[in-house]
Amino acid sequence: MESSPLELGKFSLGVGDRFAHQAKAQLEACRKAASLGVTVIPVWNKSNREHNVIRSEPASVRVAAEQAVRALGWKHPYHVDADHINLDSVNRFLDSSDFFTVDVAAAIGRESGRVESFAAKHPELVAPLCVPGIGEPLRITRQELLKIAAKYLYAAEEAGRIYRHIAEHRDGRPFITEVSMDETDTPQTPAELLIILAALADERIPLQTLAPKFTGRFNKGVDYVGDVGRFEREFSDDLAVIAHAKQQYRLPENLKLSVHSGSDKFSIYGPIRRALGKTGAGVHVKTAGTTWLEELIGLAEAGGEGLRLAKEIYREAYFHLDALSEPYAAVIDIDPDCLPLPLEVECWPSEQYVAALRHDPSNPSFNRDLRQLLHVGYKIAATMGARYLKMLEECEEPIARNVTYNLFERHLCPLFLADAGGVQ
Ligand SMILES: [Zn+2]
Repeated sequence: MESSPLELGKFSLGVGDRFAHQAKAQLEACRKAASLGVTVIPVWNKSNREHNVIRSEPASVRVAAEQAVRALGWKHPYHVDADHINLDSVNRFLDSSDFFTVDVAAAIGRESGRVESFAAKHPELVAPLCVPGIGEPLRITRQELLKIAAKYLYAAEEAGRIYRHIAEHRDGRPFITEVSMDETDTPQTPAELLIILAALADERIPLQTLAPKFTGRFNKGVDYVGDVGRFEREFSDDLAVIAHAKQQYRLPENLKLSVHSGSDKFSIYGPIRRALGKTGAGVHVKTAGTTWLEELIGLAEAGGEGLRLAKEIYREAYFHLDALSEPYAAVIDIDPDCLPLPLEVECWPSEQYVAALRHDPSNPSFNRDLRQLLHVGYKIAATMGARYLKMLEECEEPIARNVTYNLFERHLCPLFLADAGGVQ
């Protein structure tokens, strides 16, 4: 398969910037990593849903990214990701994005008429398969192959349709393709991943990154919940399958895994770093709302009007808990009994608000329920419009400091830089 003229670097970090004010502070984290010898390519991602909530247009993401790149003199590549698009939502992104996360999770399980012919085309999938890096040979029976193909083939075909739609409308301008299947109920096994990759290669998609659903829960804004040892085994099996499929199906040489809702998953960063170190593989880690929470922390740290606004956002989010949580039900776990009453929060000094919200699990005042509620509470800030944006500008210094610190110290260091002097 031809490799795309636009190549995603080995390590890349998806950064979400809901209100388009933090691109420079985010890029500063990548600049710091680069100055320590590790290049992590920033990819600004924003989904159609976020654009609809904020009432922004995809072009604004590119404008903010370009301004940041100019301001910091960033010499490496950067990209703008049309996050979780499908045929219904992709069109508004065609001009300004050069990275497309093709989401086909909703197509999993739909019926394809080509299951038998797919199985006939791929006898290699039912032969015992020694995948370097996986202890036991993969043994897929014909029965299993048919069952897995029946589950995923239509989704792969849908990815092909979306990919070709983008390619046709880009008039030759290159782009990076990611396929995502993470927003579904069951994680994909290594055997499923291999069959999915064979099917995506049949669609002639020059796939550079794939976001499967991993085992465990990837709740928004908080740490991984699940069996870390099991995650580590699955992650390294997935890396082995990817390396094998690249050769077998001539997928692009830089094809790698993408970890969605990857922000704040502190307990799996060590395992990810070890697996990458062992195999030399790359990874894309997508973060989004973690930056918006740092905006709130910066506002609270600023005190005065900033703190008052942060408290108002909490109060409104508290009273709209159900409506705010509903679209995110699969990716948050809020225990309402653990949320402080708004009247209580009203009396908090800066430090208390910051301690409850900042993702420092070692701090006894950290409250993961409050953090998740505020994570989905960005809609409240969106309805404040200019009042919120004005406060972001007035409190720029503490906000930028927190945004950069969070991405650099809590994300880039443990993922990519532990050996270069970062935190363990
Ligand atoms: Zn995702």
